[in-house]
Amino acid sequence: MITSSSGFLHFLRKTAFLLICLFLSVDVLGARGSADTVSGVDPAELLSRYVQIPSVSGSEKEAGEFLMQFCLEHGLHVRVFTDDPDSYNFAASLYPLEMGKPNIILMTHIDVVPAGDPEGWTYPPFSGTISDGKVWGRGAIDNKALGVMQVLALLQFVDMAAEEELPYNLSLLAVSGEETGGDKGARIITERFLDELNPIVVYGEGGAGITGLVSTRPETPVFGVGVAQKRRMFLAIESRVASSGHGSIPRERYPTREVVKASAALLNATPTITISPTVRKGLLALSKYETGIRQRIMRRIDFYGPLFGSIIRNDPLIASMLTNTISLTSISSAEGAYNQIPTHARAVFDCRLLPETDEDKFLDHIRRIVAPYDVTIEVIESSPATPVSEQGHYYRAMEESIHSVFDDAIVVPFMFVAINDNRFFRRKGIPAYGLLPAVMSEELMESIHYFDERFPIEALHKGIDVYVSLINHLMKNPGF
Ligand SMILES: [Zn+2]
Repeated sequence: MITSSSGFLHFLRKTAFLLICLFLSVDVLGARGSADTVSGVDPAELLSRYVQIPSVSGSEKEAGEFLMQFCLEHGLHVRVFTDDPDSYNFAASLYPLEMGKPNIILMTHIDVVPAGDPEGWTYPPFSGTISDGKVWGRGAIDNKALGVMQVLALLQFVDMAAEEELPYNLSLLAVSGEETGGDKGARIITERFLDELNPIVVYGEGGAGITGLVSTRPETPVFGVGVAQKRRMFLAIESRVASSGHGSIPRERYPTREVVKASAALLNATPTITISPTVRKGLLALSKYETGIRQRIMRRIDFYGPLFGSIIRNDPLIASMLTNTISLTSISSAEGAYNQIPTHARAVFDCRLLPETDEDKFLDHIRRIVAPYDVTIEVIESSPATPVSEQGHYYRAMEESIHSVFDDAIVVPFMFVAINDNRFFRRKGIPAYGLLPAVMSEELMESIHYFDERFPIEALHKGIDVYVSLINHLMKNPGF
């Protein structure tokens, strides 16, 4: 009910605003035309069909063949590298790989994590339901949306490649097993097929655009392009110290006690704050949009970082960017009666090291911490050091293409704290940049690896636009 003239004015203003919005949205839909298709394909429809083929790690083949067949039918040159139920890997390219052209790789992984309890989902996890402007289902974001963006962008260059000799080849690289460490996919490609693929740069998965990060422009999306990542080290500490077997007369040292004490010492140790060059560059880029104390801290993080040590260490996300982290992931001992001292005990730690951490120095640090206890240290697995991809030509091309679609966006280099397939290429000296070119709400981000994973159709279109712009840019400015 309208009770006063000012209330009425407000009502009018709001109505006018709504009408303008409605008009604008009709206009946008009209401009897109031909039922929202890209090269005659409806991206939402393609993503829905792709999501409908379950491809939990270890059973990628059917979904992989679907995508491969789609590429074949649309005039791409397909090379299937490995064709096993749990290791299906292929490239679909503008030109045959035999031509040996320097190749721009758009990498996506076919596999998804399990759906979990179907009861937790609004729509069945492999239904690919299109509802509320989104495609729903396991893998809709991670990583099938990226694959759809990449392949539909690629298709827009098929005619051009036939008409003129482009400076680069361009391949979609679809791989298996990313979620389980990459051994069935990207590792095989980089170990056995690298020469054939001839990659000059890889654009794979990584950060997305998120809002609410910059205090002066909370609406502005910040895109973190992954250029570096931490390395993983699994460590075990074990004790077999000889002790009496009966629990009634506890000794000063026995295996379970030693392992628990040493574990506690490791978990209680204060991690050193280290500012990686990538983190420093990212903060510096963001600081332009900040004011006051926030800006000062971001500009001089080397100085302020250690001063705010306790705040940093208590924030898991920030701590993961600025420290080597240690998580206790398993603790076990020989099983016996409850009154029996076990003959051995063991604890396993998942350590994540910053790119510039020296492995030997880190191990020395661990040794010093556990020195008072009767334990041995074993490195179960340690991933090799991975170089940081420079923010050169191929990074700037990505930056510009994001700006061409999201004009006010902020683009910063970013360090990925988990591991993904990009590392295999970086280790071979090939720059790899990780980004899902979409603005993602916190709610959508949380659906990754969880219930109700879903991806907005509008974001799918914008992501295709980013990739088209990227490819255009690189083909026109090859940089060699
Ligand atoms: Zn993924």
